[in-house]
Amino acid sequence: MRPYLLLTPGPLTTTDTVKEAMMSDWCTWDEDYNIGIVEVIRKELVELASSRPEEYTAVLMQGSGSFCVEATLGSVIKADDHLLVAANGAYGKRMGVIADYYHLNCHVMRFEETQPVDPKQIDEYLTCHPETTHVSVVHCETTTGVLNPLADIAAVVKKHGKTLIVDAMSSFGGVPVDMAALGIDFMISSANKCIQGVPGFGFIIARRSLLEGCKGVARSLSLDLYDQWQTMESGHGKWRFTSPTHVVRAFMQALKELKAEGGVEARHVRYAENHRTLVEGMRSLGYKTLLPDEEQSPVITSFYYPSADFNFKDFYTKLKAKGFVIYPGKISQADTFRIGNIGDVHPADFKRLIEAIREIRL
Ligand SMILES: *Cc1c(COP(=O)(O)O)cnc(C)c1O
Repeated sequence: MRPYLLLTPGPLTTTDTVKEAMMSDWCTWDEDYNIGIVEVIRKELVELASSRPEEYTAVLMQGSGSFCVEATLGSVIKADDHLLVAANGAYGKRMGVIADYYHLNCHVMRFEETQPVDPKQIDEYLTCHPETTHVSVVHCETTTGVLNPLADIAAVVKKHGKTLIVDAMSSFGGVPVDMAALGIDFMISSANKCIQGVPGFGFIIARRSLLEGCKGVARSLSLDLYDQWQTMESGHGKWRFTSPTHVVRAFMQALKELKAEGGVEARHVRYAENHRTLVEGMRSLGYKTLLPDEEQSPVITSFYYPSADFNFKDFYTKLKAKGFVIYPGKISQADTFRIGNIGDVHPADFKRLIEAIREIRL
């Protein structure tokens, strides 16, 4: 079932038991599926995300993570609202692109890709621009691996009384976040990241009182978050259109395995240990990380090319033959490649990876 390990930030390496959970067929309109699977997942997601689950609700949405970001921005932000996007990488920028497609009033505050989003600059912007209604930010910028200071950003946004939308795609389930404690209003993630499911849908955890006010805002039928939510609430787990049933069943298994591992805290410890094993090993081979340690998430790590004549394609192919698939870099300022630390991968796998790299580079 595993020709190679995916050291990529989703789709990622899943357990055999998650893959095996896809071996039955489910009826999208039957209560075995709606109540027995979808409703269980919605409840567990809210409990994972918030210490006050009664204030929040979860909506599952077909498609990849970007569909869910688009569904959220397009269904929550009204024509006379103003959105501030803080962007320090490709995923932050993508929120700005979505805002353009929907003709939202939007300002994109840009930061260097190697710099975390600065809460002070958000504070200054909100002081000068009281017309702002919503702020959106990426938690872990998968472009580089920067972990943005979410608690400090949330404190500033809440001080100004604005709605906070967080793309926690690559961190939810792997880095502890309490929406209620931080005051986050909408948080978005997908099946194939730190929960360790397979790709096919994403989800939005929303403050119930705010989502209730979003009827008729959406400009897209398929991506109407409010309508999807209404159907799931009133239909007890029904989706409006065909749902990825096998993928959803696999996700329930993945949630069970997250619990068995000890929850988000325990998973965070494992990912941090993966990351530490990787970075220590790579540094011992002479590689340098793009980011200083204090900005770095445990999710994905960017490394500089070791020399000007480094051939990434050749390196990639040789590593793949040894059982490891890695990721190219995604920034323009420097030649880098990335190695993901998330999925059903463990410190022993990273020790083997370092050995494989040592052999290739001899
Ligand atoms: C993976 C990811 C997304 C969504 O990407 P898709 O390719 O649409 O699944 C969005 N934001 C971040 C930070 C991500 O890591």
